[in-house]
Amino acid sequence: MDEIRVFSPATVSNVACGFDILGFPLESVGDEMVVRKTKEKGIVITKIEGFDLPFDINKNVASVSAMALLDVAKPDFGFEIEIYKKIKPGSGIGSSGASATSSVYAINELLGRPFNKLQLTEFAMKGELISSNSEHADNIAPALFGGFTMVKSLNPLEVLQLPTLKDLFVVIIHPQIEIKTSESRGILPKMVSLSDATKQISDLGGLVHALHTSDYELLKKSLKDHLVEKHRSKLIPYFDELKSKSIAAGAIGCSISGSGPSVFALAKGKQMAINIELIFNSIFSKSNIDFTTYVSKISSDGVTTI
Ligand code: ADP
Repeated sequence: MDEIRVFSPATVSNVACGFDILGFPLESVGDEMVVRKTKEKGIVITKIEGFDLPFDINKNVASVSAMALLDVAKPDFGFEIEIYKKIKPGSGIGSSGASATSSVYAINELLGRPFNKLQLTEFAMKGELISSNSEHADNIAPALFGGFTMVKSLNPLEVLQLPTLKDLFVVIIHPQIEIKTSESRGILPKMVSLSDATKQISDLGGLVHALHTSDYELLKKSLKDHLVEKHRSKLIPYFDELKSKSIAAGAIGCSISGSGPSVFALAKGKQMAINIELIFNSIFSKSNIDFTTYVSKISSDGVTTI
């Protein structure tokens, strides 16, 4: 095989109760990428469609993560990359994570799969590092492993795949406002109270148990953020209304996706998800902020060959 086309999903990270460690991929929202073997060694990006992103291989996360893989694999040929970007960079639904993931997944396939998913996550983290200045895996691990995924530890890297409930849908609204990563990080306190930490541990445990026992009621009680949301939500217009109205309409939970500005809600079944999308739409329609909404099943596969 000399060429491959892959789908790389958008991802929701943090998921209310798992700040920096929890995430899941979307089934029907994501980027595409074509990767082709070349005689010349190394990586070259030949096409980027959708958004304006760097062709410089040291600045694009797709090539940085690919080069981390090639440093270990050392093939005597190279690869060219075409990026078909559908996920807006900086939206909070894993735009850079999707590129960091798809290049290493695609090259691993073309090389005959010498690396496992954990090793691919390590390579992709090198790409994420240049987009956010911190090595984190809460977008790329879900994109590579599929389903609800927990990054148990970064050093050494340990990833847990949690069960994913089959009727679970996600609704996302992406208000087109810019929140600088430095601002959304900077607004967080250095210390949290013992009582907030205790509540968060309890809710994360509740979520894990709910996923293992298919308990939607427990999932609803557990999808709570005691640490981050109260600070970051100040940066997102209409956040309180999105949350209260979607939960009143039957959402299982609603919180910030990644570091925002996207907001997600979880719903049981597609019809409930569509109802919540209508609520999100009506709240932002009265503003002068452009926005996009998405409804998707949670993907249990993550990145896949098309
Ligand atoms: P999101 O908030 O959707 O997760 P990120 O904040 O992780 O998006 O990443 C966006 C940043 O990464 C932008 O500064 C963008 O220029 C940079 N970047 C570099 N390469 C890529 C790429 N291939 N795809 C998306 N973003 C990229």
